[in-house]
Amino acid sequence: MANKTLARKVFSVQRGTGVVFRVSGIPMVGTLYFGLVDRGTNVVEVRPTSVCALSCIFCSVNAGPKSRIRRNEFVVELDDLLDAAREVAHFKGRGVEFHIDGMGDPGNYDRLVDLVAGLREIPETRTISMQTRLFMMSEDKVRQLAEAGLDRINLSVDALDVGLAADLADTEWYDVRRVIELAEYTVRNTSIDVIVSPVWVPGINDGEIARIAAWAHAALGKKWPPVLVQKYVAHRRGRKPVREMGWRTFWEALRRLERETGLRLVFEGNAFGIERRAPLPKPYAVGEKVRLRVVTRGIFAGEYLAVPLRLRGSTIHDRSVTIVSHAELPEDAVVTARVVENKDNIYLASPSAGPPLSVRGVPGRNRR
Ligand code: SF4
Repeated sequence: MANKTLARKVFSVQRGTGVVFRVSGIPMVGTLYFGLVDRGTNVVEVRPTSVCALSCIFCSVNAGPKSRIRRNEFVVELDDLLDAAREVAHFKGRGVEFHIDGMGDPGNYDRLVDLVAGLREIPETRTISMQTRLFMMSEDKVRQLAEAGLDRINLSVDALDVGLAADLADTEWYDVRRVIELAEYTVRNTSIDVIVSPVWVPGINDGEIARIAAWAHAALGKKWPPVLVQKYVAHRRGRKPVREMGWRTFWEALRRLERETGLRLVFEGNAFGIERRAPLPKPYAVGEKVRLRVVTRGIFAGEYLAVPLRLRGSTIHDRSVTIVSHAELPEDAVVTARVVENKDNIYLASPSAGPPLSVRGVPGRNRR
């Protein structure tokens, strides 16, 4: 992969909070902004876009038009994603689940049907799932996704009450009734299963969790557990409307709700078929210095998307890197940076000329 391929990023759309870049020719592993994320299992996260039309009040990645701290958004060229997915699937072996998600809503990706169809053609693929709020789709679109080979939608719905759902999304036009209608249509008329994954935001949607669970048990989840309640977790750059519950309180509250409603909310065992698999190799150790070329600003202020000067032309070994820097870094600048984090092959680096920066609480971790 030659460095000149970096120039193929395309300035695309000016938005309220920043600029959307269409990226190509950049390593698809190494950043949470886009591409692929491997956490050492047979589930490979596929992140085609960081764009989101809602501005949920608890969003861990501070997405949407009302964000005051996002600067750039990213959309990936389809071929780049599929080429990388093929390589990673071959490395992982048979039985891969591709889970389409990201720092936005992948339902906004313009090539979503082609992405699903391309992932389905990969011989190692077992399951294709996606996380979405579904409101941007139509009956026709979900039929196309089913034909392309999508197996499961993990539906984000946090309230069935129409007003509360719009308040949680901080979006007046968001209508959860349409989402419910489309989810039920999908389960009844296509091969796609739908499960619902509400975020429990304590003090705000307490009364909605049992309602959502009752709906899910009655109408969704043909093959997988119909409801997976998620704990609201405060992230440094995420929106923080309330204090988060402790994990123990959360599990106790779920068990209590199970007793009160008679509905199963905690699913033990391995209902989703997740298996440990060898992770991709880590080309850079924490503390190692790497020569990087700045591609553009990152999603958040103070972050920059960068690519090592030396690349091998392989998804298995090449990485994108997020530089965290107080100083402004111009595009195409070459900097030496020290790797400060490489968990799950997500690389954060600090320019070695300045003091090392704290990157604790970088958003996007454990989001879904
Ligand atoms: S929680 Fe999801 S849908 Fe809501 S703003 Fe964040 S990315 Fe968008």
